[in-house]
Amino acid sequence: MSAIEINTPLVKEIKTMNYQELDKEFVANTYGRFDVCFVKGEGSVVYDENGKEYIDLGSGIGVTAFGIHDDVWANAVINQVKSLNHVSNLYYTLPQMELAQKLCEKTGMKKVFFSNSGAEANECAIKTARKYSSDKYGGDRNVIITLVNSFHGRTITTLSATGQDVFHQHFGPFTEGFIFTPANDLDAFYEVAKNPRVCAVLIETIQGEGGVMPLEADFVQGIANYAADNDILLLVDEVQTGNGRTGKMYGYENFDIHPDVVSTAKGLAAGLPMGATLFNEKTQFVLDAGAHGSTFGGNPICAAGAITVVDRLTDEFLADVAKKGQYVKDQLEGATGVISVSGLGLMLGIECTAEPKSIIAKCLEQGVVVLSAKNKVRLLPALNIPQEQLEKAIGILKQVIADLA
Ligand SMILES: *Cc1c(COP(=O)(O)O)cnc(C)c1O
Repeated sequence: MSAIEINTPLVKEIKTMNYQELDKEFVANTYGRFDVCFVKGEGSVVYDENGKEYIDLGSGIGVTAFGIHDDVWANAVINQVKSLNHVSNLYYTLPQMELAQKLCEKTGMKKVFFSNSGAEANECAIKTARKYSSDKYGGDRNVIITLVNSFHGRTITTLSATGQDVFHQHFGPFTEGFIFTPANDLDAFYEVAKNPRVCAVLIETIQGEGGVMPLEADFVQGIANYAADNDILLLVDEVQTGNGRTGKMYGYENFDIHPDVVSTAKGLAAGLPMGATLFNEKTQFVLDAGAHGSTFGGNPICAAGAITVVDRLTDEFLADVAKKGQYVKDQLEGATGVISVSGLGLMLGIECTAEPKSIIAKCLEQGVVVLSAKNKVRLLPALNIPQEQLEKAIGILKQVIADLA
């Protein structure tokens, strides 16, 4: 891979220091990091402190939806920074309203609550479900069904909602009121849903952290129909699958369902922290004045960035995302060392004969950034990655997988 000269004062400083030690000493040691410090980039190309070039197939973790330092986004954000950085939610701000309108127009949903992360967007969905039920039925109809192998966030309540035992240690007591059922088993779902205390069901249409596992259409539609018939709210966690990632505006559109509440975050503001929870006709008035809030939620800078994302997710653009995803599938399915390829659009999981960790390390060496999810290599490239860069990076990945097979 090629390299460039980067001589900013900061990069000069990074080169002369042991940044791994600095991080270890002062940053909480919650991440197992790869041994590289990224300093700049453009589109789907990023550079480390030595100017080594990488093609990015991770976009953070599905965050930088239009790449690193994307001009359209950067200009909108900079203009907003220079005119109004923040006022409290006690007042109106234009970017927040504009973004909410665009999200509703794109989805048919009716209202939006803004927060700062995926976990918060899910907390809001959970609070909405419980209040909807409490307003209408009172009593203890407050249990939410979630799926085994799901991931919904790191707060105590969203961990409680997460259907993976590894997350249910050390931090107890956990929030009550979640029950788990296996993905793609409708009979098991009907059995737990009979419980009169159930008020909602929360699903990811493709389990992301769980290993890029798309749900089966029959299962999703079965849940949606049962929920509608029994006034159980259908909450869809689109934190990872949302905002164009799967080749649709939201992942649920691939399954022909109409959720009552949608939560999203990661790619929404393309690199700024922003969560959003969308409500339909049924749920739009549940959270009334004082019922919920967020100091930073919907702040004008993040909203200005997000508007440039939502504006560019046209049908034509989304069709291109789907096409690029298909290209990757065609390249990797049946290739040496590849067991299977799962996912939709540019959210892909590749099960290989080699361990994901060794593949990631080798790819980094060769100038390609990829992620993992459970036992798979995970790809979440920028939605606008140029075809040539995608081809080059997939070529390298394919070779690495074959070499390690
Ligand atoms: C990443 C993720 C979350 C958590 O989002 P944070 O912004 O880290 O709080 C929740 N749900 C899903 C499906 C995710 O992929």
